[in-house]
Parts: sequence; C-alpha cells; structure tokens
Amino acid sequence: MTSTGPIPADLGFAGPEHVETVVIGGGQAGLATSYHLARAGRPHVVLEGSERVGDVWRQRFDSLRLFSPARYDALPGMPFPMPGWEFPTGSETADYLESYAATFDLPVRTGVSVDSLSRKGEHYVVTSGHRRFEAPNVVVASGTWQTPIVPEFADRLDPRIRQMHSAEYRNPSQLQPGPVLLVGSSHSGPDLAVELAPRTACTCRGRSRARSRSGSTAGRRT
Ligand SMILES: Cc1cc2nc3c(=O)[nH]c(=O)nc-3n(C[C@H](O)[C@H](O)[C@H](O)COP(=O)(O)OP(=O)(O)OC[C@H]3O[C@@H](n4cnc5c(N)ncnc54)[C@H](O)[C@@H]3O)c2cc1C
Repeated sequence: MTSTGPIPADLGFAGPEHVETVVIGGGQAGLATSYHLARAGRPHVVLEGSERVGDVWRQRFDSLRLFSPARYDALPGMPFPMPGWEFPTGSETADYLESYAATFDLPVRTGVSVDSLSRKGEHYVVTSGHRRFEAPNVVVASGTWQTPIVPEFADRLDPRIRQMHSAEYRNPSQLQPGPVLLVGSSHSGPDLAVELAPRTACTCRGRSRARSRSGSTAGRRT
C-alpha cells in the first residue's frame, strides 16, 4: 500500500462509497477494532486483502505454533476454543480469526487489497483497484509482517547456497541437503531450528538467546 497525493478525478474509479470509518486489514488489530466499532454502533467497513480472513497465518510455515498460549491469543468477546495453556497452530489461529469475524458478523470485505490512501479535504480516500472509499476516519491495521526483510548483502553470497526468507519456507522439503544456518532468533528461527535439527546440522544465530516453547535453548548449535 502506498500513500499518495490527491487522486485525479478522471481515472475511471467506481463512484466512491462513503462510510464513517474504513479499517485497512482484517487481522487481529483490524478485527478487534471492528468489534468495538460494531458494539458502539458506528458504521464502518474492514478491507482485507486476502481471500479469507486469517490467510496470513495459513501461509506461514507448516509446523508453526504460536509462542503465546491460547489464553493470551483471544480477541475481545470470544475465547480461543482450546485449553488455555495449549499453543495454537497457525491454521487454528487463522480459523479462530475467520470464525471471530463470522460470529460477530463484522463487515469484512475480503479480497480487497488497498493500494492507496490519500487525503481529500476533511476526508480520506482509500482505493483498491477501481474501488474507491471516502471516509473521515481510517484505521490502518495492515500489520508489520507482510514484507520480508532481507539483508542487502544476500545477493553477494555464493549462489550455491540456497537462501530463503522464513516467509517463503513451508517445510524441510524445500531445502537442499547439507547444513542449515538460520539467521534470527525471535519466533521463526528457533522454531525452525527445532524442526530441522533432527535432520541436519543446524545453527541458529541472532542477537538474543532464543528459547523454544518447550523451554530448551535453541539459539546455539543444535
Ligand atoms: C512467524 C510469526 C509468528 C508469530 N507468532 C506469534 C505468537 O505466537 N504470538 C503472538 O502474539 N504474535 C505472534 N506473531 C506476531 C503477530 O502475528 C502479530 O503481532 C499480529 O498478527 C499483529 O496483528 P495485526 O492485525 O496488526 O497484523 P496482521 O495479523 O499482520 O494483519 C494484517 C492484515 O492486514 C491485511 N493487509 C495487509 N496489507 C493490506 C492492504 N494493503 N489492503 C488490505 N489488507 C491488507 C493482511 O492480509 C492481514 O490480514 C507472529 C508473527 C509471525 C510473522
């Protein structure tokens, strides 16, 4: 999504849809915002780029489990449907978010990826392809995890090294034989170290000493 200057009037956009609040993104933040707006009786719409609510979680690596137990993963008004100290998988998280939107009949429009947000007098203009929304309020809840950060020197590494960001990684079948260096020790790095260590020599490096959900230290040679 880009923030642009004023949009020319003659670009062939559909007539603008006027709404009090546009929420961009139907993840945790967008859905929780929508829940509270709905409870307060405030007209709004949630624009979600994915085809289904929760797809960002469905598209992460197959073995993903949250590091936060279910009791801390619930959104307002609806408990996470599993024992509080269990760790949901990525797809369970996705299904919870989808069912949350359905349970409260939140006005989420999926498959609407916002490509610009601009100011027009006292209003904002939000566009998605030919669609155009005008609103005095916009909540940007598009998240911070959609764009992988790859170090600039990655292009200069030996081309025989198969490099991939964790956003592309699904399971070990994508790797070539040989040892693995995992760079980063937040959530994905230690999880992938636990997954890969039984199969190959695997080193996880990062600024912090990482711990897996079981409490074992994964931020060193495994
Ligand atoms: C691998 C991984 C594991 C994680 N594990 C945990 C965990 O265990 N526990 C925990 O608490 N947190 C975890 N997080 C962090 C958690 O995902 C975020 O803190 C949380 O999802 C933030 O919610 P959000 O609604 O701000 O953003 P997101 O969940 O990223 O939602 C943003 C939504 O906006 C949509 N969107 C983006 N751009 C546009 C656009 N232009 N137009 C329309 N829609 C758009 C996206 O499709 C998405 O649905 C993890 C993150 C990652 C990457």
